[in-house]
Amino acid sequence: MAHRVTLIPGDGIGPEVMDATLKVLDATGVDFTWDRVEEIGTAAVKAGHEALPEAVLDSIRENGVALKGPVTTPVGEGFTSVNVAIRQALDLYANMRPCKNLPGLQTPFDDVDLVVFRENTEGLYSGVENFDERLQIADSIARVTRAGSERIIRFCFEYARRHGWEKVTLAHKANILRSSSGLFLEVGEEIAPDYPDVEYEDKIIDNMAMQMVTHPSEYDCVVTTNLFGDILSDLGAGLVGGLGVTAGANIGDDEAVFEAVHGSAPDIAGEGRANPTALMRTAGMMLEHLDENDAAEAVREAVRGAYRDGKVLTPDVGGSASPDEFATHVAERVAQGAERIAQGAEREA
Ligand code: NAD
Repeated sequence: MAHRVTLIPGDGIGPEVMDATLKVLDATGVDFTWDRVEEIGTAAVKAGHEALPEAVLDSIRENGVALKGPVTTPVGEGFTSVNVAIRQALDLYANMRPCKNLPGLQTPFDDVDLVVFRENTEGLYSGVENFDERLQIADSIARVTRAGSERIIRFCFEYARRHGWEKVTLAHKANILRSSSGLFLEVGEEIAPDYPDVEYEDKIIDNMAMQMVTHPSEYDCVVTTNLFGDILSDLGAGLVGGLGVTAGANIGDDEAVFEAVHGSAPDIAGEGRANPTALMRTAGMMLEHLDENDAAEAVREAVRGAYRDGKVLTPDVGGSASPDEFATHVAERVAQGAERIAQGAEREA
């Protein structure tokens, strides 16, 4: 049966990287019925709708899964981030961002393999803000709840256990933000003994950032609050080749929205220079979520193969291919991989 998935190409480089990713998904042979949503963000506002039309949320609620490109948030005008709004409206509390080296891609380290788990609905992004016009005082409240902390920290431990990771590191600033970060740390310390098979440690966020750029291989699963996670995951992306290659997922109890870490990249949009690797790896995570494990591995291996080979890559990683040329190359590799898997299965039978 076909998987019914909400498809949001987004804006900026979104449509370019989405077309490329669809080409690769097509090559896996997995059957999808796409529920395509074009009107979101600026496009929706121009058409006279809300930036985040209710129909978008309804589609994701109905399908349970979405593959999403980036959506621009205009600075200081218009609307607040629809990306944050989707996560909050659907209670997608776990933001997962794996940072793993690609073969052949020159970076300062060649042994980075970690996952940042970012609490995705509260903290400084909870939208509790106030601006006193007269006194010119701005407040952004970092709201952290026990229940919110518990579910993301457990999600991280469960993932670590299921995937055989050795260690969970909780990053915080409880020495200064005694109330909000203090609660997050307290909950972490309470939960850790439930997972004696997973090592647990905590690190103050500034030290954590320094450790990640000096000894990244020492980290497996890093769990933290919203803003710290946003920053650490971009840092992790920088360690493995940049935003063009780093995947991400927003997971809740009922829905999951798969989107790369990067934004709409207005500086290169429409120039044929966008790297679809991040969204392709994101699509690999979606395939795994849908229990299409062979297809997920075929996509991962095809991307790794393209980098190992290094002949057809986009400009941000030292090549000159357009997103479509890169996609054609990866799709061919996926098809060859799928054929090998099928031949292997035939031989076994
Ligand atoms: P960005 O991620 O769009 O771009 C940062 C830099 O990385 C730019 O130089 C860009 O060219 C480069 N880059 C990003 N993705 C790339 C790719 N796939 N291939 C090659 N180079 C790539 O971040 P920004 O400039 O801070 O944000 C631009 C817009 O995107 C803003 O409106 C922001 O709000 C929005 N945004 C959306 C999301 C989302 O939809 N989830 C996430 C982050 C930012």
